[in-house]
Amino acid sequence: MAGGFCRLPAMRISGLVLAVVLSSVVSPAQSGKPTVAEARAFIDKVETELLAASTEASRAAWVQATFITDDTEALAAKADERLLTKTNEFVIGARRFDGLTMPPDLARKFKLLKLNGSPTDPKLVAELAQVSTALEGMYGKGKYCRQGAAANSDNGHQCFGQDEMEVAMAKSRDPNELKELWVGWHTISPPMREKYARLVELSNQGAREFGFRDTGDLWRSGYDMTPAEFSAELEHVWAQLEPLYKELHAYVRFKLIQKYGATAERPDGMIPAHLLGNIWAQEWGNIYDIVAPEATGYKMPDLEAALKRQIGPVPELDAAKKMTKYGEGFFTSLGFEPLPATFWERSQFIRPRDRDVVCHASAWNIDSDLDLRIKMCIKVDADNFTTVHHELGHNFYQRAYRKQPFMFRDGANDGFHEAIGDSIALSITPDYLKHLKLIDEIPPAEADIPLQLRTALDKIAFLPFGLLIDKWRWQVFSGDTKPADFNRTWWELREKYQGVAPPVERTEANFDPGAKYHIPGNVPYARYFLARVYQFQFYKAMCDTAGHKGPLNRCSFYGSKEAGTKLNRMLEAGRSQPWQQTLKAMTGTDHLDAGPMLEYFAPLYQWLKQQNAANGVKVGWTTSKP
Ligand SMILES: [Zn+2]
Repeated sequence: MAGGFCRLPAMRISGLVLAVVLSSVVSPAQSGKPTVAEARAFIDKVETELLAASTEASRAAWVQATFITDDTEALAAKADERLLTKTNEFVIGARRFDGLTMPPDLARKFKLLKLNGSPTDPKLVAELAQVSTALEGMYGKGKYCRQGAAANSDNGHQCFGQDEMEVAMAKSRDPNELKELWVGWHTISPPMREKYARLVELSNQGAREFGFRDTGDLWRSGYDMTPAEFSAELEHVWAQLEPLYKELHAYVRFKLIQKYGATAERPDGMIPAHLLGNIWAQEWGNIYDIVAPEATGYKMPDLEAALKRQIGPVPELDAAKKMTKYGEGFFTSLGFEPLPATFWERSQFIRPRDRDVVCHASAWNIDSDLDLRIKMCIKVDADNFTTVHHELGHNFYQRAYRKQPFMFRDGANDGFHEAIGDSIALSITPDYLKHLKLIDEIPPAEADIPLQLRTALDKIAFLPFGLLIDKWRWQVFSGDTKPADFNRTWWELREKYQGVAPPVERTEANFDPGAKYHIPGNVPYARYFLARVYQFQFYKAMCDTAGHKGPLNRCSFYGSKEAGTKLNRMLEAGRSQPWQQTLKAMTGTDHLDAGPMLEYFAPLYQWLKQQNAANGVKVGWTTSKP
């Protein structure tokens, strides 16, 4: 699913807004200087109790997500509250050991425990919970409904929730309808504006109580470097990638003007945001048909038809399990153990007939040990083929770090977790598909460009969007952007980084950030930017280890036990050490680096430059603000 990010539901004890009531603060007045032995005993207790509480919360969340009723929602919320209350107690209890010199592993556990920040005043906690729930609800129920009869629309539906909106924006090629949908979707968010401003205040208050400057500062503290260093790391990588993005932007703009004429053309060179096949213009793969190169004559293989042929006319559940087996087969080819039998018994592979479920793909480890599951509603098609590889990346990561102490059972940072499965999915090359007998022939070299273009429309186009969401939020949390400027600053960033412009004039009567889930949901976003870059670093490292020769984009490390050993070492480390160390062991470098991504897309980059030059296209755009 283009633009579909899986949610990793393993109970997190840090980073997110913790909406809980603090029942009691465990810190009996102990006198004297605490010892390292006491600190270790304290953390042992923390790990034992948080493991129990998180397992309980995961079970409740699983039942809730696979059987949505008022009762399961209440049970899941209660279990969450117990987990989060415990976490707050422990964070405050840990203050007793401030200033104590500890061995590195112990010090790291305390550091990770303290990446937490929710208010402790029960009144504020209750208000924060209420505001968060209200915002989630406003987004979840957000719909654009057409004026007039249902007969006005093609599909017979008059109202568009997020799912219908995404499909409609992907499929429609009528610029007037696209504009109508875009404007319509952005009517869901103005009512969120005041509540969002309050969410920012409350969440900042919590962060400050726990020693952070603001919530943005807390979010950027989870990366084993200072918040300022983290921001600089992202800027550095964006500077590496921006020239490629600008060439892609110019090429796509040219094709859109060819298709839509004046509607797509602006004197400032920006692309109207409603024409890119996605309601947020965050990934552009849905308009591949508009921008596909004409000359090559190469036709993309029909993976969906091939999968259907190979899987055969079996019941839906069997077909879904076979789809999952392809993903598992990639990992076992690298030397990983097959998934446990319980995975096949307990996962949700298809949409049940008789109850409401959350179909959005996700990967779970219920007990932080071997109770691994995916929750999907698998259909036999190319997107699901990729998604299965992505989700299993989470599961194999979870299983590999399960032997770590509880506090270290997590990705090296949150970008790593999202990147693992994608680095595997990059190996879904024609070679790999031929090996699976899903295609008969390896496409000729000239097919590289169409294949790369299709990939870049999602992976490269996403980069500025992935960057600007949290750039906007960091300045909101820090107070540099005031509520009165929410929308203006949002569009300044979108213009500057993405080079897209709204199809109609926007004012502070709008609240366009709220039309993207992660803003009202208050979910950090930088991880997705990181993951886009890391995945190519991991991929290249495994290709090198597998002995791949030739252009990076044709590498598949399928079947390489050496690559698997290398990957497993990274996965097993979990969060036990700074991610820089983990990355260095894997790739030889200790920082986020766009080099491998640029190497991968080098053929496309050359081609885009030639196309833009031949078309006489001016690369780049100007914005209203300098
Ligand atoms: Zn994911």
